[in-house]
Formats: sequence, structure tokens, C-alpha cells
Amino acid sequence: MAHCVVPEAEVLLDKEFPVLDRGFVRLVDYLGGDERVVQSARVSYGGGTKSYREDAGLIDYLLRNRHTSPFEQVVLTFHIKLPIFVARQWIRHRTARLNEISSRYSVMKDDFYQPRAEDIALQSGDNKQGRSDDPLDPDPAVAAEAAGEICSGFASAQTRAYGDYRALIDRGIARELARINLPLSLYTEWYWQIDLHNLFHFLELRLDPHAQKEIRLYAEALLDITRKVVPRCCESFERHILGGVVFSKEEFAELKRRMGGMGESSGEGEQARETGLTGKALERFEEKLRYGRRK
Ligand SMILES: Cc1cc2nc3c(=O)[nH]c(=O)nc-3n(C[C@H](O)[C@H](O)[C@H](O)COP(=O)(O)OP(=O)(O)OC[C@H]3O[C@@H](n4cnc5c(N)ncnc54)[C@H](O)[C@@H]3O)c2cc1C
Repeated sequence: MAHCVVPEAEVLLDKEFPVLDRGFVRLVDYLGGDERVVQSARVSYGGGTKSYREDAGLIDYLLRNRHTSPFEQVVLTFHIKLPIFVARQWIRHRTARLNEISSRYSVMKDDFYQPRAEDIALQSGDNKQGRSDDPLDPDPAVAAEAAGEICSGFASAQTRAYGDYRALIDRGIARELARINLPLSLYTEWYWQIDLHNLFHFLELRLDPHAQKEIRLYAEALLDITRKVVPRCCESFERHILGGVVFSKEEFAELKRRMGGMGESSGEGEQARETGLTGKALERFEEKLRYGRRK
């Protein structure tokens, strides 16, 4: 009942998982595991840990029904190295506790994010915040040359900015002033502590295809690590949140219209069974189609 030790998480502690060209995510510590979620949910009626199947079922029930407080009992602390433009998106998640390296106190390292040539893309036409899938030029050789030039342009601007910064530091200018022209591609580092409920919220938003690729790669690394700490919670998160679909009122109406009169006798149930959706899950699906996400 006391301290939860998760052997699969223990072996990850202090290991750096590389992200981007120079970044990383490292699990510093964790508090609780799947077991803690189960224990805290059962405290209200005094039951302890039951069979693996019952515990997994309880976790799945809690997550499915947005009974979120037991997930707040699990806390993870990460050490993360990330470019400042990613940090600016990350910091919008207000429910974490963090401590960042101080560039007023420390001299920043010559560490800048340089995208790979294949990551250089045009502005998307339909998504105002995103990248286009179209090549830089219809001719692959021209596109590769253009991407190479852009990457060298990034690199030389970074070298110049860092050279100016070092020159100011060497003249004895205050570090808090010397840093102000450093670009958003500079890497920063922080300790980031968050509970599992809020981590899932972060992951849901930042694993979405609309999130910027660079922060998505960090979210993927966080999820890989979190799967080791709380495998059953992650399984339910991936089933119901990441892999689930919520229909709007209109979409739901359209779905019903297209399916026309879907009742137990319409044959959809048989089809769903063939896709592996059986028993309670099938009932829930039919309920979702009939009533929306909840009755
Ligand atoms: C694809 C994408 C594009 C984005 N584009 C922009 C953009 O262009 N400009 C921009 O400024 N931001 C942008 N954001 C950031 C976005 O608006 C949110 O600030 C960010 O995703 C954090 O979400 P959150 O507030 O739900 O998370 P958190 O801050 O982690 O909060 C979690 C939950 O806690 C509750 N909560 C926390 N603090 C408060 C509070 N003070 N009052 C009430 N409830 C609170 C809310 O229910 C919230 O959902 C973007 C995010 C994404 C994923």
C-alpha cells in the first residue's frame, strides 16, 4: 500500500531519451503507478487491490467516465531539454510545476535547434498554423537545394547571434542583457512535474496532428515513458481519449441519418461484433450512437 515501485519505470530513471537534434526527455522521478490509481479509487469503500483484470477494468471505467481525481494521485517529474519556441507552447499548460535554467545566472550554451532539410516546408494553404505537405519545388533537386540553403541560413544566423552574445559576456555585460538577442531556436532546460490527469490532457492536445511537429515529438517521448510507469492507465487513455471520437451534435445527427434506424435488429451489432467490439463495449458503442457520448 505504501510506496509504489514499478520495475519497468525504475530502469528508465535518469536515462535521456533524445528528441530533435539536441533535446531530450528524462524521467527524474515518479510517485505512484497503476496500483495507486486503483488504491485511491477504492478508498471510498475500503477495498484493496483485486485481480489484474478487475484493476484494469476499474482504471478503464474511471477514465471512460472522466472520474479523474484518482489519476491526480500519480505524479511524474521530467527533465527536459527543448528549444525556446517549443517551451513557449509548452508553458501554456498551467497545471504543471516547473523550474527552468536561468539565463540571468548561467551563461547559455551554444545549443540551437536546426531542423533537418526534410522538415523544411511551405506554409499550409488550409491550416493557417501549419505546414504544407507539398514539396518546396516540383523538381526534387531544386527542392533539396532550397531546403539546404534555408538550413545553412538558420545555422549562420545562429552562429552570428551566439558570437555576439559571447562577445557581450566577455566584455562583462550583464548576462540578463547579453541574452536578449538570442533566437527562439536556442535550447533551454527545465524540470517539469505534473500529475497524470493533467499529463493526459497535455498529451491529448500535443499529440494531435494539429500541434506543431516539434512539440509532438516531445509528447511522443513523454507518452513512451509514461507507458512504462502506468501501462494500464495509458492503455485506457489511448483507447478512450487518443483513439476515441467525440461527435458533435450535428455529426451525430448525420451519423444517425446515414445509418438509418440502427437498432439491435438492424444488423450493425453483428458487424460490430466482427470488428471485435463485443459485450459491454458493444453496448457502449450502440449507446453512443443512440444517445451521444453519454445518455
Ligand atoms: C494546436 C494548438 C494551437 C494553439 N494555438 C494557440 C495560439 O495561437 N495562441 C495561443 O495563445 N494559444 C494557443 N494554444 C494554446 C491553447 O489555447 C491552450 O492555452 C493550451 O493548449 C493549454 O490548454 P489548457 O488551458 O486546457 O491547459 P492547462 O493550462 O494545462 O489547463 C488544464 C485545464 O485546467 C483548467 N484551468 C487551468 N487554469 C485555469 C484557469 N486559470 N481558469 C480556468 N480553468 C483553468 C482548464 O479546464 C484547462 O483545460 C494552442 C494549443 C494547441 C494544442
